[in-house]
Amino acid sequence: MNYKIDTRPIWDAYRSGCCCPLCQVQEEVERRQLGLYLNEAVMEPVYRTEVNKSGFCARHAGELAAMKTADKNSCGLALQLSTRSAYVRGALKATHSAKAAKREAERAAALASSCVICAHTDDAMERYAETAARMYAREPDFSKLFAGAKAYCLSHYALLLAHSGKAGNKTRELCSDAYKIMDNALCHAVDNLDKYCALFDYRGASGGDAPAVRAAVPDALKLLK
Ligand SMILES: [Zn+2]
Ligand SMILES: [Zn+2]
Repeated sequence: MNYKIDTRPIWDAYRSGCCCPLCQVQEEVERRQLGLYLNEAVMEPVYRTEVNKSGFCARHAGELAAMKTADKNSCGLALQLSTRSAYVRGALKATHSAKAAKREAERAAALASSCVICAHTDDAMERYAETAARMYAREPDFSKLFAGAKAYCLSHYALLLAHSGKAGNKTRELCSDAYKIMDNALCHAVDNLDKYCALFDYRGASGGDAPAVRAAVPDALKLLK
């Protein structure tokens, strides 16, 4: 699928001051995808073929099920799950030996692990990371916002580094800014987690009521994903 990548979601995310700007961009991409697979995609043969082949992962299937507020949407999800189930049924083979079962296990695991929404989201995020690197090189206002980001999650830090070459002669600065942001965020995470753990120490600890300390565990989980 060809995505038209516009820069607005990137500007919005960096201007919002959120903890991982690319996580914010990704949430928007996933929201659009979920809406698509509950509405327009249901009756489009191209999308249906994709859903039959790849299906939905447990997380996205759960989100689709939670979103189906109207009967039409509920039926749309059921229709897609019906043809996906038929596709999987046709793909599975009976096995009668350990060797054949191992091969079939690999095929079944591949069928279980694919997800059309994950695939499109990953594809779109590769292109957003490339676009962010190009914006860093071309737009001084953006490179300032980039350098002032609070944090990246680990996977989006990896994605930015992987596409840092798109910043051309600014690649070195981009990598250095991204590393400083990541290092600083991890340093704060360790500090807040240590203070959080100290709350359970019999000697007691001060500063445990700070919001950053109370949120130390969920914040660290977001950072390390
Ligand atoms: Zn992220
Ligand atoms: Zn998924």
